[in-house]
Amino acid sequence: MSLTNLSRRDLLSATRTSALGLAAAGTLAAPMVKAESGPQAQGAGLFGVDDLPDPAASRMRWAVVGLGNFAVGHMIPAFLQSRQARITAFVSGNPGKSRDLAARFGVSRVYTYETFDQIAHDPQIDCVYIALPVGLHAEFTIRALKAGKHVLCEKPMASTSAECSAMIAAAKAAGRQLGIAYRVHFDPFNMAVANMIKAGEIGKVRHLIAENCFEADPAFPPHAWRLTKQLGGGGSMFDYGIYGLNGCLMMAQEAVPVELSAIYTTPAGDPRFTQVEGGVLWRMRFADDMTAQGMSSYASAHINRLLVSGTGGSLAMDPANTYDRNMARRRRPNEADLIIDTVGSMPQFVQQIEGFCAAARANVPHRTPGEMGLRDITLIEAIYRSAQANGATVKV
Ligand code: NDP
Repeated sequence: MSLTNLSRRDLLSATRTSALGLAAAGTLAAPMVKAESGPQAQGAGLFGVDDLPDPAASRMRWAVVGLGNFAVGHMIPAFLQSRQARITAFVSGNPGKSRDLAARFGVSRVYTYETFDQIAHDPQIDCVYIALPVGLHAEFTIRALKAGKHVLCEKPMASTSAECSAMIAAAKAAGRQLGIAYRVHFDPFNMAVANMIKAGEIGKVRHLIAENCFEADPAFPPHAWRLTKQLGGGGSMFDYGIYGLNGCLMMAQEAVPVELSAIYTTPAGDPRFTQVEGGVLWRMRFADDMTAQGMSSYASAHINRLLVSGTGGSLAMDPANTYDRNMARRRRPNEADLIIDTVGSMPQFVQQIEGFCAAARANVPHRTPGEMGLRDITLIEAIYRSAQANGATVKV
């Protein structure tokens, strides 16, 4: 067995082949930012000075909407690391929290959900990052676009494909960019694995299998809204299964399925699942007989993995798309296995922000645009249709 950590060159080559060609190598060993007070805390000296030469004045200015678990725990630290972005506003329903965070990070503007539309008159905001419950994505994305701002909206894009289409139409009408925060497409590890597949390292891809599960805890506020139809949009498939679905399509070089079928696996009588499904098992067929299948569950222990099986070998990603240390094993006949490991904190959050800054600055589509979000919600709706019909095949 041989072991490899992704080298600077691998990572650079993984990102160079991507649409926006952002440099990854300089960010690989970036330390997790320790939040300090004052405006200087934003992107100050966390990378080598030559890595990203943009002066502070030319950074894209961001409003962060919804100061919850993921925004505060992961995205705000990533904004602070970025030398392309700076946070100029917080939008929250909790004035105490937004005031505290604004003071801590030197952010001068604080809006509420009621005053949000006033950002239209705020020249210190170029882009809006939406980290609200799914049921609010469409409303706040459309309001931000109408205010003339570019929007990076968290996954899943919205509760229905109709809402997704309305969001895309709003972006077109405003002449602004709409991106969906599929961070995995900016993750050097996932990009490197996708490039290995594209380069034919496991031959022709035949089968993909994705598994995404965790135990939903109704007592934990970020899980509580996920268990409601109105704020969650759907259940495990919407929130976590979407990583497996989107990941399969990424590893299949964005191939388009032709038909699918699915069954629900929600445990009978579980009081958590009165509004949304607790689990789904789905499978898809593609035009060239490639297949993908996935399992998502809110009712079993955490698992996050993706297996890609080809005519010349396989790549087993486990974990496949977590925040930190993802790993893969490439297995080929008559060869020692190759382990692709990642070390330290992953730069995917910063790269996603910087990718969107570049797209917004040039006003060109983001690598993961609204259309990708719409595609995934449309497929999930088809998965639900099949599951409701006890696994009937649905053309897509
Ligand atoms: P949280 O519940 O922790 O945060 C959501 C925030 O939205 C709240 O803290 C609150 O902020 C605001 N909010 C406004 N209205 C409501 C409401 N009616 N109920 C609850 N919250 C409300 O959730 P997460 O941070 O886990 O998820 C937020 C978004 O991020 C979701 O879209 C989720 O899918 C996405 N996400 C993405 C991940 C990724 O890897 N890309 C990982 C995890 C989540 P305030 O108090 O400031 O008003």
